[in-house]
Amino acid sequence: MAHIIDGKKISQEIREQIIADVALLKEKNNLQPGLAVVLVGDNPASALYVRMKKKGCEETGIRSFEHVLPGATSEEDLLHLVDRLNGDSSVNGILVQLPLPEQISEEKIINRINPIKDVDGFHPVNVGKIVIGDDDCFCPCTPYGIQELIARTVPDLKGKHLVVVGRSNIVGKPIANMMLQKNKRANCIVTVCHTATKDIAHYTRQADILVVAAGRPNTVTADMVKPGAVVIDVGTNRVPHPDGGDKTRVVGDVDYERVSIVAGAITPVPGGVGPMTITMLLSNTVKACRIQNKIR
Ligand code: NAP
Repeated sequence: MAHIIDGKKISQEIREQIIADVALLKEKNNLQPGLAVVLVGDNPASALYVRMKKKGCEETGIRSFEHVLPGATSEEDLLHLVDRLNGDSSVNGILVQLPLPEQISEEKIINRINPIKDVDGFHPVNVGKIVIGDDDCFCPCTPYGIQELIARTVPDLKGKHLVVVGRSNIVGKPIANMMLQKNKRANCIVTVCHTATKDIAHYTRQADILVVAAGRPNTVTADMVKPGAVVIDVGTNRVPHPDGGDKTRVVGDVDYERVSIVAGAITPVPGGVGPMTITMLLSNTVKACRIQNKIR
């Protein structure tokens, strides 16, 4: 049976480190990292994420600034707010919760955030730095969390074959680029599969590390996994509960029950990648505070 990679536990360990880092910044430099979270409209899922981010800030000693704007907010007004946050030295990180209402261009808003405050890691400058391998950047939080889980599970990553299923800008492309870099937390041979891949099993069976971010349950079944492989399941899919009725449950993209018999290690859903994302946002906020105050 596969070792279960406990995202909750790892996330908690990282949060403890963040608490210590925040305390040290206060003690040595009299600084408190600050994160501004902007929510436009009343999407319940987005509101929940914003509450979780605020709670994460409170738990780690990061100052949080919440901006809740009505759903009818204009693009111009949101751009003004971003400009204001860019100019506010107590705000080290800016996160505009996506998706945005249709009258606002997400691209324009992301591009307006100062790249050194872009703790979500979606600004083209940060995307480019990831591709180049410049460490002075912010990795998007989900791939950053995935890398952390991989690095803690596989001590020597050099030359391992990492196969990614999915090529979104949020997960697939960044994790592929991050794991390709020549450093200790990467240095993998990387293959990326997507819907134009004719026989994805041909590739997934070669994976020492398999990252699945397709957004579809059972995309990866046991016959597609090499014995002993490390499987990172990014998917979060709501499906009907086996008990029937109106109940639902969340499953990943991997057939967890059967794959965990073949794999060497696997992330559960929930409890694997999910708990890492907000923790890495907090970690990026501390990094932003250090970069902006030229503290190494
Ligand atoms: P996305 O934007 O929908 O992208 C899915 C990618 O998977 C696409 O590149 C698509 O290929 C590929 N794909 C879909 N079905 C496939 C198949 N049968 N074979 C091969 N490739 C396939 O999704 P995403 O934003 O990357 O998210 C992926 C999953 O991760 C979702 O379930 C999402 O909810 C979850 N997620 C979880 C977290 C977390 O914190 N736990 C964070 C982000 C996302 P094409 O490009 O060819 O269409």
